[in-house]
Amino acid sequence: MPQPCSIKDCTRTPRWVCDCCQQNLCLQHLNEHNDLLISQLNPLTLEIKALEDCLQALNIQKTIDNSREKLEEWRDDCYKKIDCLFEQKCRELDQVINEKVDQQREELNRIHLKITELIDAQETSRQDIDLLTSTIRQLEININNIEQICFTIVTSPLVIDDTFIFIKETTEHELDLSTLSPVYETIHRPKGSSGPLTCNDRYLLIHQHPNLCLYDREMNIVKQTLWRYGRIWDMCWSSTLGRFIVLEQNNIYLINENTMSINNVHSMKDRDWGACTCSDTVLFTSTNEDGSSIMEFILFPAIEMIREWKYPLTCAKDEIIDDIVYNNGNLALACAFKIVIWLFLRIMDINNTQNIINTDQHENTAHG
Ligand SMILES: [Zn+2]
Ligand SMILES: [Zn+2]
Repeated sequence: MPQPCSIKDCTRTPRWVCDCCQQNLCLQHLNEHNDLLISQLNPLTLEIKALEDCLQALNIQKTIDNSREKLEEWRDDCYKKIDCLFEQKCRELDQVINEKVDQQREELNRIHLKITELIDAQETSRQDIDLLTSTIRQLEININNIEQICFTIVTSPLVIDDTFIFIKETTEHELDLSTLSPVYETIHRPKGSSGPLTCNDRYLLIHQHPNLCLYDREMNIVKQTLWRYGRIWDMCWSSTLGRFIVLEQNNIYLINENTMSINNVHSMKDRDWGACTCSDTVLFTSTNEDGSSIMEFILFPAIEMIREWKYPLTCAKDEIIDDIVYNNGNLALACAFKIVIWLFLRIMDINNTQNIINTDQHENTAHG
């Protein structure tokens, strides 16, 4: 005797195994189960509709705009470099011609003076006249030649490589340490070298006792100069000034990457500097003391202090600011509590100092 339909109290003959419940069902119950399944399609359609609306409303423009902004920054930066080289070469051209014109002008003045002297003295010789005449002939030739000067301009095309820009997808605010490249090169630091380092788009600046050194991308020392001053507390690059900024205990120095000249631009006798960072228009420095202050300096026309932020706005009375970094209108401060038990990041919106975000990350690690 075959088993009846699997539904309780149903005595009808089972026809098929139902797809949804895997039971042997009669035709009627199979239909019921089928209807039930079909009825579940409608809510799914509604969900799809909602997702379609959601997709439509996605703010992809913001994502695209943020990344485009980076690309545009890169493009502007490249344009600036081209403009800068172009202007430099234009100046070189002007200089070559102007030097020649000035040379002839000086020679003309010299001869003119000589003739005036002879006239004033009412005395000359045949030899003087011959010499002056031949000099004037030569000057005439030289002056005419200036207009005939041609320059051969040899240029190389600018080779732009696709790898200059690498686009990688990341989730917002994600910091993926695995994307850090492996150790490229190790630089031995002589004893007595100060720890801070910084770079611009060409060179890495570090103190290799007793010198201040610029390394290129291949990690070769390209330039160095003797550092006669004290321990370096921090350094940063100012693209506005085109100079490296170096903080010593009481002084701020500018380093010219071309000449390696060192200029003291600010001295502060009674307090010590700790850290520095730059925006396009200002330099921020922090003091190395309990309840550190942050000083703001304008870069142009001269480096000049315009503001001091004191604790408790900057940090607590018994805290020291270890490092500061400026980015996009924000100043991030790393503050270390005296015997460094924890470290937190404090982000100040520099145009609205009321708006301080304290991201207390109680990291139970010693702070480096
Ligand atoms: Zn079923
Ligand atoms: Zn049944």
